[in-house]
Amino acid sequence: MFSPALRIGAGLLAWSATEYGMHRWTMHDARLRSKHNGFATEHLEHHRNPFDTTAIGLNRDFLASRLPGLVVFTALPAPLVGGVSRAAPVGLGFFAGHVGYTRLHDSIHHRPPRNRVSRWVWRHHLQHHFSSPQRNFGVTTPLFDVLLGTRNLDLGPVRIPRRLQPRWLEGEEGIRPEFGNEYSL
Ligand SMILES: [Zn+2]
Ligand SMILES: [Zn+2]
Repeated sequence: MFSPALRIGAGLLAWSATEYGMHRWTMHDARLRSKHNGFATEHLEHHRNPFDTTAIGLNRDFLASRLPGLVVFTALPAPLVGGVSRAAPVGLGFFAGHVGYTRLHDSIHHRPPRNRVSRWVWRHHLQHHFSSPQRNFGVTTPLFDVLLGTRNLDLGPVRIPRRLQPRWLEGEEGIRPEFGNEYSL
């Protein structure tokens, strides 16, 4: 039942839903904010200093920190799909989604976008940071923002406070001209 590709896809989808839910509710819902909610505290700091973070290396410790997701999302669907070996692609999809999300989010905050797709993805997340913190919760995909009506549909430039300008946006005077349609200071 279900091809391995479909099971990997299910894992990726489970990750995207987790990413959206964690970001929207665990990190941004005022009702869930407390000194015990480390996710919210850390995320608030990320919003205060969005470009003042250290780039994350793709090393063994980083990958190991993502293993619990692989284990949980292999164990959960195992009874439904006929055992652990058949459920492993779901866990792997979830793991790949989580690793991919962290790498992508890190790139948005440290490197310029390189093509049309990445320009869209960068802007989608930076709208969340600077235009509408209660919109655009998805980073790897806008799917759940579309489904749950939290997409920012504004097409104008994202206004970034001068003091928070990311290095990759810095031009000789103001921002780099190639990003002039997408960002302003
Ligand atoms: Zn961010
Ligand atoms: Zn946020």
